[in-house]
Formats: sequence, C-alpha cells, structure tokens
Amino acid sequence: MSITRQKAIESAIEYRNDAVSRSRGIPVRDYFGMNVFSDDQMRARLPKTVYRALRQTIEEGVPLDVSSADVVAAAMSQWAIERGATHYAHVFYPLTGLTAEKHDGFYAPDGKGHLLADFSGKHLIKGEPDASSFPSGGIRATFEARGYTAWDVTSPAYLTEGRNGKTLCIPTAFCSWTGEALDKKVPLLRSMQALNKQARRVLKLFGHDNPGMVTASAGPEQEYFLIDRSFYYSRPDLQSSGRTLFGARPPKGQELDDQYYGTIPERVLAFMMEVDQELYKLGVPVKTRHNEVAPAQYEIAPVFESANVATDHQYLTMQTLQRVAPKYGLACLLHEKPFAGINGSGKHVNWSLGCAGIGNLLNPGATPQENMQFLVFCAAVVRAVNRHGEMLRGSVAHAGNDHRLGANEAPPSVISVFLGDQLTDVFEQLAFGTEKHASRGGVLNVGVDTLPPLPKDVTDRNRTSPFAFTGNRFEFRAVGSDQSIAGPLVAINTMVAESLDYVATELEQAPKDRAGFNRAVQDLLQRMIRDNFRVIFNGDNYSEEWHREAERRGLPKASSTPEALDAMNCPATVEAFTKYGVLSEREVSSRFEIYYERYIKDVMIEARLCLSMARTMIFPAGIKYQQMLATTSDALNRLGKNHCTHTLDDVTLLLNQLHQKMAELEAVSKLPEQLELRERCHYLNQTVIPVMNAVREIADQLECVCADELWPLPTYQEMLFIR
Ligand code: ADP
Ligand code: MG
Repeated sequence: MSITRQKAIESAIEYRNDAVSRSRGIPVRDYFGMNVFSDDQMRARLPKTVYRALRQTIEEGVPLDVSSADVVAAAMSQWAIERGATHYAHVFYPLTGLTAEKHDGFYAPDGKGHLLADFSGKHLIKGEPDASSFPSGGIRATFEARGYTAWDVTSPAYLTEGRNGKTLCIPTAFCSWTGEALDKKVPLLRSMQALNKQARRVLKLFGHDNPGMVTASAGPEQEYFLIDRSFYYSRPDLQSSGRTLFGARPPKGQELDDQYYGTIPERVLAFMMEVDQELYKLGVPVKTRHNEVAPAQYEIAPVFESANVATDHQYLTMQTLQRVAPKYGLACLLHEKPFAGINGSGKHVNWSLGCAGIGNLLNPGATPQENMQFLVFCAAVVRAVNRHGEMLRGSVAHAGNDHRLGANEAPPSVISVFLGDQLTDVFEQLAFGTEKHASRGGVLNVGVDTLPPLPKDVTDRNRTSPFAFTGNRFEFRAVGSDQSIAGPLVAINTMVAESLDYVATELEQAPKDRAGFNRAVQDLLQRMIRDNFRVIFNGDNYSEEWHREAERRGLPKASSTPEALDAMNCPATVEAFTKYGVLSEREVSSRFEIYYERYIKDVMIEARLCLSMARTMIFPAGIKYQQMLATTSDALNRLGKNHCTHTLDDVTLLLNQLHQKMAELEAVSKLPEQLELRERCHYLNQTVIPVMNAVREIADQLECVCADELWPLPTYQEMLFIR
C-alpha cells in the first residue's frame, strides 16, 4: 500500500473516532452575528443623528458626509478593539475572482515614542492599495497603479478571528483613480440601482407610489467535495488546477445513488458544524447542509439576502469551507469538475426582487390585481432571458465550468426558462388564446376576476433547466461552484432592468383609467409572451431532441468558454451595460480582455501540469512495471510457461502511445505567436485540450493495468471513499 494511502486511512480513522466539533453544545443565538458590526451595534453606539444619516446611506444611497463618517469610524474601531482586533482591512473583490485584503494597524507612532489611534472617517471611506498586480484589462497602466477602495455601506463590517489575531474587515468597492470599476462589487451595486429604478417605475403604474427601495435578492446553494488532506497534497493536479487531470473511474461511482441525502459521515459532520458556527458568527445565515449526488460531495445553502450582502457572504462561505477543512484533516475542493465521470459541482443562484412595502415581486398574489402585477414582472424576466441569453451564458463561462455545462448532469449550454406547466398554460392562454393543460377555455384576461389563482408552488420541479421558476423566484443553475456570484447577478439585474424599462415605457403611455390600463397590460403581456415564447421550455434539457429543437427555435448555444465569450461580446450586451450605467464601454471591453486572458492562463496551467505529471510520475511508473514484467517474462520463458507476454505487450503499447501523445502535447502547447487573444482561446479549446484528453485517456488505461503499489497518484477509489 502506498504511503499516502496509509496516511489517509490513519487520519480518517483518527478523525472518525475523535470527530468532535468545537461548536458542539453552544446555542446558536449566543453567537449569531457576534463578529458583525451590525445594525444593533450601530444603533447602540452611534448618536441618533449619525445613525439616521447612515441608515439613509444604506437604504437610499445618500452619500455619507465626512463628519458622520468620522463618528462611525470611531465607533467601529472601538467595537473592534474591544474585541481584540489590532488591524483593519479593506476587503475587496478584484477580477481575479478571489477576495483581496490589505491590512493596516489601528495605531500609528505619534513621533514622541507613543502610539496614537489612527483610524478616522477618511480611512473608513477610502483606502489606497497599490493595485498594479490585479487584472485591469488595460484600464490602468502600472505607473498609475494606485487603486481606490471605498466602504460599501450596505454591507456590514465584520471581524475575522484566527489563532493569531483578529482583524476588522470592511467590505469595499475597488476603482481606478479615474473612477473606473476594477472589481466585481461596483457593477453589482450599479446593476442593483438600475433594477431599483426601473422596477419602481413599473410599480408606480400599478399604484405603488412609495414601495421603498426594490432590491435584488440572492440565495446561492454551494456544492463542494471533501477529501482527505493527504490525498490532496499528493496530487499536484488538485493543488494547482483544482481538478484531477488523471484518474481512472472507480469500479463503484455514483450509480447506486446511495450518497444523495445519505447519512453524513462523522468527520464531515464535525467539519460542517464548525463551518456553520464560523459563518453564524459572521452573520451568514447558513441553513441547509446535506450530502450531494456524487460520493464525497456536499452542499451548503444560506437563507437568501440582498444580492450585494449575499455575494459578500458567499465569498466568506467559500473561504470558510477551505479554512476549516484542514482542521479535520480534509481538503475542500470547489472546482466545477474535480473528478471525471462523476457529477461536478455547481452553485444554484436563486434570484428574485422585492421591496419593504410589497414584499417579493415574483410571488403570485392573492387577488387578480396582484396577479396581473406578478405576471408582468415574470414576463419581464422571460423577455430578459430571451433577449440576453448570450449575456447570461457568458456570465458563467470559464474553463472550469466547461466540464460541467453540456455534460448530462448540469444545465446545458443552451439557455432556456422553465416555468412549469401551470404558469406556461396561463401565459399561453393570455398570448394565444389556447389551452393545453387546464380545463379552462378561451382567452384569459388579466385584471378581471376570472383570472385564476396562480400556482403558489411549482411542484413539477425540473432539475435540468438552466433557469427555472420555482414558485417565487428564479433559480439560475448554470453558475460554477468556484466562481463569484457577482457576475451572474450583474447579468440578471441588468437584463431585467432593461426589460422593466421597456414595460414601464410602454405602460406609461397607457390610459390612466382602470379598464384602459388593464387592456394595455393585457396587450403588452400578449406581445411580450409571443415575442419571447421560444425561450420557454419545460422538458428535459439534457435530451438530444431539445438541442435540435433549440436550434430550430434559434436559441444561442455555446459549448465552450471561447464561444460563450464571443457570443456575449455583442452589441446587445454592451448596450445594456452602458445604457443602465452598469459598465462603461471601456469597462466592458477591459473585462472581456480579462476573461479571455484568464481562460488562457487556466488552460495553459493544466496543459503544463498534464505534461509534467505524465512525464515525471506516470510514465516512470509504467516503465517500472514494464521492467518488472520483462524480468519475470524472461525467467518464465526459461521455464517455458510465460503468462506475462500479453500484459507486457499491453503495457509496452500504452507506454509507446503515451510517449507519442506527450510529445504532441509539448508541441501544441507552445502558443503560436501570431494568434491574438481570442484566437488563442479557440486554439487552446480546439487543439490543446483534445491532446490533454488523449494523454489522460492513455494514462488512465495504464492505471488500470499497472501494479497498484507502483502507481504514484491516489486513485479515485481512495479519494472518494476513504472518509
Ligand atoms: P432547493 O435545493 O430545493 O432548490 P434550497 O432550500 O437548497 O432549495 O435552496 C433554496 C434557496 O433559495 C435558499 O437559499 C433560499 O433562501 C433561496 N430563496 C428563497 N426565496 C428567495 C427569494 N425570494 N430570493 C432569492 N432567493 C430565495
Ligand atoms: Mg436548488
């Protein structure tokens, strides 16, 4: 047995017997939000006027004046220092997809040998990290490398605690000195503003003059894998690319479905409890945890929050999963496809919009009038998805997600909307005067009492749809497990804002009397549904027929990142982003550059890794086995009973093939100089990835014949089943 395997078994046994989570027995209410500078804290610690000014900033986006900011800063730092914090950090979300933080001490020398508190409103509102190494897509040259971070007042500050101290973390937006967005938060906030503005125009027409701010909400369900840490450290591919570039399928995979919602192993449960506790302390409302479909795969989901806070909390969730895992001898894998041949991981992002005055706007109402409003918002979303399928698809395009989208486990590369039979039926009757599933006849009329009560819960859940209505929200299922949810949320907010703008503009011209207005809504709904009906699909999104049908309907399809980015990079996308002030033209084009570059980096890292592992680990193991067989074969020949020749021939053949494919990979992974950025991506996708796959296929065959004790990499069987 290999040493790694032995170690993993030992640690699994050790933790299995002693998997005690530190969080055991402490009631959640004793620590929920204890590390958050929460609204309660602010109310208690701030003078009334300052607190009111801050609330105005949070709720209505009114800028915070410097003197109020000074008072807030003093209260915030006092709160943090009382709890043992020594430093503060502006946390921001650069386009690397990770979080970045720059730490500063709360104190500065006063020049007389003492320390002075040095944290004022100015520090709170603005930080200036040297940002030359973050991707900017050409927006910023190195000589003007300074970036600016500004506190996002709508996301509360919090304390992170480690064994080595506590830090006050301030969620911030990150821009260049010219004010251009260099991060994922700025466009998200802008898209939420755009959505608020357009939704309120529509609500006004429905008689809501003061509904309060309309916010987008998000509830992201995170899938992840856990494996023993010793396997992780003996797998260069997992460490550097997040997924296994080699590994034959285990005899038993997920075919028995015995993992889904199964009993959670003790060690994993201990891990989950500590993760929950850490997140509760930070005010992240995690709620659900369970086993997922694949062996060693799990899910964690919070209760939804405002899209902005949910996004910050999602980053914290991913960080916490990865930080806590080693304490239990585990490694947490967030890659979309850590293991070939079994399910990968995604992140279902549940999305809706609502306001204090009315509540969730995607909730079918109790009265015909409310239902009319619901149908308008729902149709606006359908229209948005139909018009901006490319944007939505592009927002989840990255190298890791290519392994998932298109395979028979995740939403496919064609974007469609699932509405469920009942709602589709209502829409069909409104638009075409036909009926299919219900027993009603004739054309439905909105705004009159005959409009039937709408489904409260869509029971016929469809798990294959990329964008599904699930009763009071939409669930975008194509988001990758490792990606920030900011991008997909920006896309949804922007395209729905555009749709609502269209609705408002149409209806603002309608007669003001009740009957006239209702007729105008009826007409508009009919048009919206007819024009966008092609995007509605309630069937099996994995089936061959659907792909043929989708093509007939003219729905865009992009099965790889380069295709998806090319398609997204179209006038409709650019226009929507610029028109609603989400991203300027320069910001959009810089982002595309970053996405293409990122794809190249991701694939090139894998190509180099694939080659080096094949060369230095797999090929030598094969050679050793070949040698073993050859020696035995010689001896057996002398005895005249050779049963080794076949195996020796097989191994020799595989080694020859491997050798040839390695040489090929080396040759193709030298990127041709003359290709420009986009062409390089297509080249990698069409030329390099197939050769990597070929190398893997041969190596995996070799794994199946090679002596187990010689094989240098932990096998799938071991990684997935030793817990
Ligand atoms: P399922 O796996 O059946 O889809 P889960 O309970 O795992 O359901 O996840 C549903 C997610 O949807 C939760 O995060 C939940 O808070 C979120 N959600 C519920 N209502 C809304 C809403 N109005 N807006 C956004 N997200 C919502
Ligand atoms: Mg779900």
